Amino acid sequence: MALKPLGESIREYDKVVVTTCSNMCEAACGMLVYVKDGKVVDIYGDPEHPLSKGALCPKGSGAFQHIYNPLRVKYPMVRKSLNDEFKRASWDAALDFAAERLMKVKKEYGAEALMLHRTGRSDFLWKLGGSRFGKIWGTPNIVGQGPICCESPGVAMNYTYGAKDLGRLMNPTTDWVNSKCIMIAGSNTAANHPVEMLWVLDAKERGTKIIWIDPRFNPSMAKADIAMRLRPNTDAALVMAMINVILKENLYNKEFVDKWVHGLDEWRPLIEKMPPERAEKITWVPKETIIQAARMFATNTPASVSGCLGTAQTYNSNNINRCYGILVALTGSIGVTGGGWNWLHNCRPPLNYGKDLASLPPVKAPVWLGRCLCGEFSQCNIYTKALSNKGSMVEWKYDGADAIYTEICSSIQEEC
Ligand code: SF4
Repeated sequence: MALKPLGESIREYDKVVVTTCSNMCEAACGMLVYVKDGKVVDIYGDPEHPLSKGALCPKGSGAFQHIYNPLRVKYPMVRKSLNDEFKRASWDAALDFAAERLMKVKKEYGAEALMLHRTGRSDFLWKLGGSRFGKIWGTPNIVGQGPICCESPGVAMNYTYGAKDLGRLMNPTTDWVNSKCIMIAGSNTAANHPVEMLWVLDAKERGTKIIWIDPRFNPSMAKADIAMRLRPNTDAALVMAMINVILKENLYNKEFVDKWVHGLDEWRPLIEKMPPERAEKITWVPKETIIQAARMFATNTPASVSGCLGTAQTYNSNNINRCYGILVALTGSIGVTGGGWNWLHNCRPPLNYGKDLASLPPVKAPVWLGRCLCGEFSQCNIYTKALSNKGSMVEWKYDGADAIYTEICSSIQEEC
């Protein structure tokens, strides 16, 4: 058998389906799915795809395991209590069962007893449809992991750029090759976003300067012109010191700043209090490196910053991300090709909630009742747990709260 060209499956197949990877992240890499007798036998990256250019991450390459995994749930499974085994059910029976239980909860405890949860992995219809369902149902409790994840950069950008609903003002990955300088913070892109890393490497080959910021030495840093390993959570001091240098040496884009930037004069006194010497003590990054990075970023424009979970899931995330956003603005790299405050994590852009969230029923403040309804104060596990974690173990003040609490208590009666 002759060797097949690179990029083609070595397995026997009778057709190739051109498609995209879906719902494991939002990159939507191009895929060639090799099929034999109606079964997927292999998946390769599509070299014709403009974003992924033939690359797939391991999740994409292994995507066919989703289809044939014996544990995959392919039809409704119902169990009527936690002690029962799951049994296969028809869609009608499963929907009736869910509706009946939901109506019971609503009747006994009120509409707000229902909480809907979505994540960055939820598909768009669930993100949008979830809030619509909550509105129709009458609960404001539509939640996600956003507040401890990527919402802070989105909110930071809303504050900084006044760009409500635009979130992180992403320049597309395919545009990164047009940056003269890319600064990446809080990401090991080669491992976590291999497809995007291709574009970083492509940009570097074209002469783009790369600045990398991360507390760890990560392998992606090997490609950086300047790598800054900072003390965790000190990005704000680092970036303020870079801005200090840029302002002091007049390296900012005066024309852009005069036209578009508000509040710089009010911020200057604070920036003056963060020279590189002081930032070195806070961040542990040598002051010479901070100065060098500031000059490199400001004199190689358009420049862009790409943040990731390292700048989101961190203490002081909101202000850290505002600093990065301001740095980009001072170089005039907003709204231009090759610029932008970009984002590597895949909850982007933040379309998560849709406009329905704005018109959800009002949220009622949680109220700490501080009492145990089963009456066994001294031995009651739930009461003890609640006391030791006051503030997270709360009740909603509405008709039916007592009923829920009683039910929780009685459900762990054996423990009480
Ligand atoms: S990066 Fe991986 S998971 Fe995301 S679309 Fe591409 S192949 Fe799929």
